[in-house]
Amino acid sequence: MTYNPLSLEYAQSLDASDALADFRSAFAAPDARLIYLDGNSLGRLPLATQTRLEQAIRTEWGERLIRSWNEGWLEAPRRIAAKLAGIIGAPPEEVILADATSINLFKLAVAALRANPGRTTILTDEFNFPSDHYILQGVIDLLGGQHRLKVLRSPDGIHLPAEHVIAAIDGDTALVTFSHVAFKSAYLHELAAINAAAQAAGALTLWDLSHSAGAVPVDLQGSGADMAIGCTYKYLNGGPGAPAYLFVRQELQSRLRSPVWGWFGDAAPFEFELAYRPAEDMRRFQVGTPPVLSLLAIEPGIDLLAQAGMPAIRTKSIALTKYLIELADARLAESGFSIATPRNPARRGSHVALRHAEGYRINRALIEPLDPHEITVIPDFRAPDVIRLGIAPLYTGFVDVWQAVERLVRLTTAGEYTRFEKNRLAVT
Ligand SMILES: *Cc1c(COP(=O)(O)O)cnc(C)c1O
Repeated sequence: MTYNPLSLEYAQSLDASDALADFRSAFAAPDARLIYLDGNSLGRLPLATQTRLEQAIRTEWGERLIRSWNEGWLEAPRRIAAKLAGIIGAPPEEVILADATSINLFKLAVAALRANPGRTTILTDEFNFPSDHYILQGVIDLLGGQHRLKVLRSPDGIHLPAEHVIAAIDGDTALVTFSHVAFKSAYLHELAAINAAAQAAGALTLWDLSHSAGAVPVDLQGSGADMAIGCTYKYLNGGPGAPAYLFVRQELQSRLRSPVWGWFGDAAPFEFELAYRPAEDMRRFQVGTPPVLSLLAIEPGIDLLAQAGMPAIRTKSIALTKYLIELADARLAESGFSIATPRNPARRGSHVALRHAEGYRINRALIEPLDPHEITVIPDFRAPDVIRLGIAPLYTGFVDVWQAVERLVRLTTAGEYTRFEKNRLAVT
């Protein structure tokens, strides 16, 4: 059977032959009329997480109380990180869960700059997440203003070819740090080529995997990465504010000292010695008591990703983003939308950025339709004019994408967004 590639029937046929289709039912989705395209910002709730947290609250906290620390809680940051390691191409003993991404960046950036004295440049790009920029600026301030942040600009706002990055690395570069996938354009940096260039020049690399882990296969060890950080609440579906992770290559661990000396980073916290001695392993990057409930909530989502396998997830992600771009070209270009994401799938993460002068109000109208019979579509908006449509391969389908594009056509044709004010809400 051949279908018109712009038809609903074609989208349905793609869903029917989707090898990962069964994973959709592993996630809470109480509203069948909601098309959720924001899994790149807050992943859906795995049903198994609900059960896991009920057990943790009723039994581990409610009955076992403090005994639970010796019955799994203390080991959880390393045990669950060992599973996550399989998703990001790292040996299990090189990853730990702790704190927020921003805080992990702070700890590792300070440690890396101190481990690479005499060099003054931190290299990043304009695509990196603002919080990463703020942390790096704060680190420079903390270390006495001896370093400078060199921010690479993109030639087109979408791409930043590896040649530009490699040309900017020199003998003064202390640290090279980028988001592996850019949060706005979804540009995917060339991990191995940049790591090799940095290593040859004596610089350390630190990757933020927040927008790639769980959506794009990452090979930290194989690509020669020194350090990485990332959050667990996007494609990993760990829940709002769940603890982040950090990765440090084995040989580097003993050379890096966290600037925040807390008891969970000590070699023997329950000896209660007054002098700090950093743990020999990744525990040295912990600080204080982990948020146990949020920590335990991360595990079921990682299990689902491991079960599906990153190669199959990437294949579906590329098929969906390609389909979305094709539909947008055919159906949305005439309404003033343009694609602000790489067209080459090898350089693209798992979301598609659509640019439109009325992006903010269109995004609001998608989320809050006037007509109660209309579907609700949830993407997100990134200033000044980008609507991000996130593809989470475990639960996003081809019909979801088709519906979202058709909704955008109806909404812009009718000018439905004009009823919203241009003033923005606090969270977009
Ligand atoms: C989401 C995201 C973060 C979040 O940082 P938190 O400290 O966890 O709030 C950091 N960096 C990037 C690239 C992100 O996409």
